[in-house]
Amino acid sequence: MSGTFFYNLTAYLYFTGFLQTIKIGKLILQQVKLSSFKREALIQQVIHYGCHFIIPVFIALLLYRQHWLKAYGILLLTMFVDIDHLLATPVYADCRCSIGFHLLHSYPAIVVYIVLLFFKPVRLVAIGLVWHMATDYIDCLLQAVYCN
Ligand SMILES: [Zn+2]
Repeated sequence: MSGTFFYNLTAYLYFTGFLQTIKIGKLILQQVKLSSFKREALIQQVIHYGCHFIIPVFIALLLYRQHWLKAYGILLLTMFVDIDHLLATPVYADCRCSIGFHLLHSYPAIVVYIVLLFFKPVRLVAIGLVWHMATDYIDCLLQAVYCN
């Protein structure tokens, strides 16, 4: 495994760590403001980040057992697709569905990710992207339950 890979992984974790801090910080602030603990919102977040960070471990182990750590790193790197959120105002909104809203989460983009599944050199990246879209879509379904 190359040093560049770990450099990229560190850069990625730094980037998402930053966004995650904003998201969770905002959630906590809202709870303080409402002075009632939003348990449902917290459950939604736990499911969402579980899908983003933990399920890919199993995808990597299942499909790329010999190089699972590298595969996991690449799967995590596909989360850079969330960079399109920077084009939106606000960058993060609690009850906004990403699918069909952001450029790289649009339906034509999702069709491209699915097509990429059929090309072996980019298959792992495509798996990461399709799983990312599925995760965001699950979040949209949960929003229908938890958001007004
Ligand atoms: Zn996303």
